[in-house]
Amino acid sequence: MGVINRVINYTQRRGLREIMTRLPSSSPENLVRMTHLAEILTRNHDDKEILRQMREAFRQNHPSLQLARNAIARLSPNCRDRLVNNLMISALVIGNSMRENEIYQREGFTPPLLMVISPTMRCNLNCYGCYAGGYRQDFGLPFELIDRVITEGKELGIYFITFSGGEIFIREDIWEIYAKHPDVYFQLYTNGTLIDRETAQRLAELGNVAPMISTEGMEQRTDARRGAGTFKRIMQAMEHLAEAGVLFGASCTETRDNMEEICAPEFIDLLIDKGALVIWYFQYIPIGRTPVMELVPTPAQRDEFRRRVRDLRNTKPIFIGDFWNDGYYVGGCIAGGRQYIHINANGDVEPCACRLSRRVGRGRARGRRPSDTPGRGVDPCRAQGADQAVRRGICALR
Ligand code: SF4
Repeated sequence: MGVINRVINYTQRRGLREIMTRLPSSSPENLVRMTHLAEILTRNHDDKEILRQMREAFRQNHPSLQLARNAIARLSPNCRDRLVNNLMISALVIGNSMRENEIYQREGFTPPLLMVISPTMRCNLNCYGCYAGGYRQDFGLPFELIDRVITEGKELGIYFITFSGGEIFIREDIWEIYAKHPDVYFQLYTNGTLIDRETAQRLAELGNVAPMISTEGMEQRTDARRGAGTFKRIMQAMEHLAEAGVLFGASCTETRDNMEEICAPEFIDLLIDKGALVIWYFQYIPIGRTPVMELVPTPAQRDEFRRRVRDLRNTKPIFIGDFWNDGYYVGGCIAGGRQYIHINANGDVEPCACRLSRRVGRGRARGRRPSDTPGRGVDPCRAQGADQAVRRGICALR
């Protein structure tokens, strides 16, 4: 990194840290002022635009203002600092600029924002239709490989790692990964059943790990797919995480059957009451042990879901990500190295965590650097000769 870039990054970090130290006592007016300062410190045009939109939303007393205040109030100081330092500053503000400028000039491509890694496919549950069943259960990434891939990712400006699986809390050695990379932000997709009070406390001490707990909706539906008693364990896990001040959220697979339930205001209110700050929606994809075509949402349901999510965003103080209906906002499919890649539990580099049988090239994480993977920068749909597949972010191959 050149001297000028180092100076710019230093100035950005100092300015953004200054914002951070003032956050806990911020009034709505100050939050608006801080978006001005953050905009000045940001070099990326898309980020500037997001900050402008955020400012406008705050001014209009949009629920996102309450969400920001909830996040400030609910997170422990350590979790709040890591969220701002690792995710917002290193992965987004400085990371975006680094990947798009320095790394692009050096490597000839723009690395993705995040890597999704599946360290194991083993799980303590056996949910109906689980995609993890499509992989061999004895697959698992060695600690050294996970550590090396994350280290090399950082050299490429990647500071946001998502662990999928399998159930990540089954692997005790992964705690050492979180501690060894305190500058990285880790998001975990988990069934939540292994998060007790002590686990939540350990996560709070680390500060750089945010669990997203899978649920199908309310108790009856969740237990029907995940096993009796799972919903109660999820609710307990959320209480422990909230008590410890850890950022957490919910991850919901949208099917033809549960669509109404997972976007019902009562369900969203329950999650907010428990302290969740995020919901990820994923439309059901018929892969895995027992794919069921009848569970795939219909086009009309997808459209209706899109409308409901828009209404929820305008009324509820919770961050909502809607895969794949949000493709419109991110310029289409983000897989294939455009914004993310998936490294599965066998060490294969895949364009997308949901496309296990359709890998691009022979990308292998073992023995290679992330920048060596053939999948980078490749649109997986086009790589399969389906040029028309990605339209307005909707992948027709699914
Ligand atoms: S908790 Fe997740 S990984 Fe485990 S069986 Fe259920 S869906 Fe599969």
